[in-house]
Amino acid sequence: MADLKSNDIPLSVFDNVMQQFDEAAQRLNLDQGMIEFLKQPRRALIVKLPIRRDNGQLEVFTGYRVQHSINRGPAKGGVRYHPQVSLDEVMALAAWMTWKCAIVGIPFGGGKGGIKCDPTTMSPHELEHLTRRYTAEIMDIIGPEKDVPAPDVNTNPQVMAWMMDTFSMHARQTTTAVVTGKPIDIGGSLGRVEATGRGVMFSAREAARVKGILFEGATVAIQGFGNVGSMAAKLMYEQGCKIIAVSDVYGAIYCPDGINIHALMEHVANTRRVPGFPHCKELTHDELLSLECDILVPAALENVITSDNADSIKAKIIAEGANGPVTPNADRILDKNGVFVVPDILCNAGGVTVSYFEWVQDRMGYFWEEDDVNQRLERIMVKAFNDVYQMSQEHGATMRIAAFMLAIKRVLDVTLMRGVYS
Ligand code: GLU
Repeated sequence: MADLKSNDIPLSVFDNVMQQFDEAAQRLNLDQGMIEFLKQPRRALIVKLPIRRDNGQLEVFTGYRVQHSINRGPAKGGVRYHPQVSLDEVMALAAWMTWKCAIVGIPFGGGKGGIKCDPTTMSPHELEHLTRRYTAEIMDIIGPEKDVPAPDVNTNPQVMAWMMDTFSMHARQTTTAVVTGKPIDIGGSLGRVEATGRGVMFSAREAARVKGILFEGATVAIQGFGNVGSMAAKLMYEQGCKIIAVSDVYGAIYCPDGINIHALMEHVANTRRVPGFPHCKELTHDELLSLECDILVPAALENVITSDNADSIKAKIIAEGANGPVTPNADRILDKNGVFVVPDILCNAGGVTVSYFEWVQDRMGYFWEEDDVNQRLERIMVKAFNDVYQMSQEHGATMRIAAFMLAIKRVLDVTLMRGVYS
């Protein structure tokens, strides 16, 4: 969805992140050279992936891996399989990872990967070949100390297992720490599958606290029911929030008395879709976004809230489970209307935080209890929220711009410490 209204030029997602960066950098008084150094991606690799489909046809896919920054540590970020994947999108997502890792204070830079494909039309066998060929093609630039992929939209622990195995076969040694989000038995971490949703729940809870809204009983609408949306829904439901609406690609359901999320998860496991859940009214995607509620959680793709629909948002808080769901123009409208936005690079950082725990556990060869993972995650998320909130109060900035300011400052500090190799 393009952000057409205010400037008539559709915004690229990378332009969105550049605009967010510029607004924050301006407030930090950085010099122009340093601005360019920190904001542009370090490198981008485009790979051709020839795959023999099950019907015998050869098809060529395109894959990407972008490393935005390695200033604070190895590049880190997911791999996405989606028809919309493009270099522009992967560059934007890689940049958001740099700032996200800095906000939660984990020792990583930012990276992202993706393959332009429609996984819903591919067999497990085809997906395995695609994953293995992609891993082999990006093999030279990934590794536990270089760049560590993880799951993102339409990738999961099985895909990570294939990536780990392919890398290990070429390296002639099992290298579990090359990817995170793996199955538990091959170096995965307890709590990783729920981690992004759990972090969204903590962020939403902290936002409710500062806005004086009782979290227990708060009304919530969730757009997207993949890994992030479903886990956020489940954990917020278990905290006593009233989840009044949920959507997936097929449509939205609404129930003002609250949806039993455990029952909805069972329904989705059986039918593979949210609509059709009993005793609920069906809504359109736009109707869900403009519902009267305390907390709206966009947990699908980018550019969902634009200048076209930002004025219709009635939620008091937006907790961004997805990366980039709100455009910069929409941000200005939401701010004017008093909507409190917990930005993606803070709100959904729980996933990469537990990825960090997984990487640490793999390198130690010693695995933690789930409680330990969840408690450490909570401490990090609450601290990150408070750091960003304090920055926003001190500078009279939105939570997004404050998050960028904090992150840029942290990356700048280590960059100056290391010095620029020129
Ligand atoms: N794909 C997730 C994100 O956008 C997780 C990345 C990771 O764990 O490295 O934050």
